[in-house]
Amino acid sequence: MRTVNTITAVRRLVEFQRDKGKVISLVPTMGYLHQGHLSLVSIARRRSDYVVVSLYVNPTQFGPHEDLAQYPRDLDRDLELLRHAETDLVFHPSDHEMYPLDHHTVVRVTMLSQVLCGRSRPHHFEGVTTIVMKLLNIVEPDIAVFGEKDFQQAVIIKRMVRDLHCRVKILTGKTIREKDGLAMSSRNTYLSPGERKNAPILYQMLQWAKKRFAAGMRSSDRVLTTMAKKIQAKGGLIDYAVAVDPDTLQRVTILKKGTLIALAVNFGKTRLIDNITL
Ligand code: AMP
Repeated sequence: MRTVNTITAVRRLVEFQRDKGKVISLVPTMGYLHQGHLSLVSIARRRSDYVVVSLYVNPTQFGPHEDLAQYPRDLDRDLELLRHAETDLVFHPSDHEMYPLDHHTVVRVTMLSQVLCGRSRPHHFEGVTTIVMKLLNIVEPDIAVFGEKDFQQAVIIKRMVRDLHCRVKILTGKTIREKDGLAMSSRNTYLSPGERKNAPILYQMLQWAKKRFAAGMRSSDRVLTTMAKKIQAKGGLIDYAVAVDPDTLQRVTILKKGTLIALAVNFGKTRLIDNITL
């Protein structure tokens, strides 16, 4: 495994592989890796010959009062995990490498970026699409892998790739969870022991919704109201609890197969998201 910090070095190493006819994959991450990230690396490993993982805490996707400064980092541990996962190349750039002072360009996917998480984090997805587009242009992978845990992010990136005619194929990986159901997230480390104990209520309620749907329930209002009450009873402050069309992310009132139930809930200062597809 090679670790490099510059765009020039990534291009040189990837080009060498591409010239040999190798299939190139990219897994973008912000580091502080867990099994969720590693599951995406393993998809990339299975589907390509040369796996590139980026480790970069992208400042432009954080709001002014968000957790950029506290975001957990542990480069040595990440590199060790990536080596075990048979990563070929790690790209760990500096802010200056990604955003020189005279950097003025953003990529914005309208509509899809303004709903759900986009309401409380107005510039978040613009930061995400800008950095992902840059990484795609640097690595020029055949495939790039994203997690379904960040469902809205995956939908937006697929739309960006389609709209901007990028050649890359976007794959998604299932949400990897702790034993008690909590979706793995680098941010789970912020939870106090009490909050950590209550946080699995998100997944419990998502599963409950799926069961109610299987039992014939079709009213999204009735399902979501009960979900919200139970989550609030565990100390969660709801940002949103919605049933949406998985392609348009627009709210639906009647549940059907394929509907996405998505949650964003604050436990203390920690914002957790999770979702399930009916
Ligand atoms: P992040 O480091 O949080 O930017 O996440 C990097 C990638 O890992 C994104 O595509 C996420 O959707 C994905 N990811 C994060 N958590 C999980 C999880 N628990 N299971 C699967 N993928 C995940």
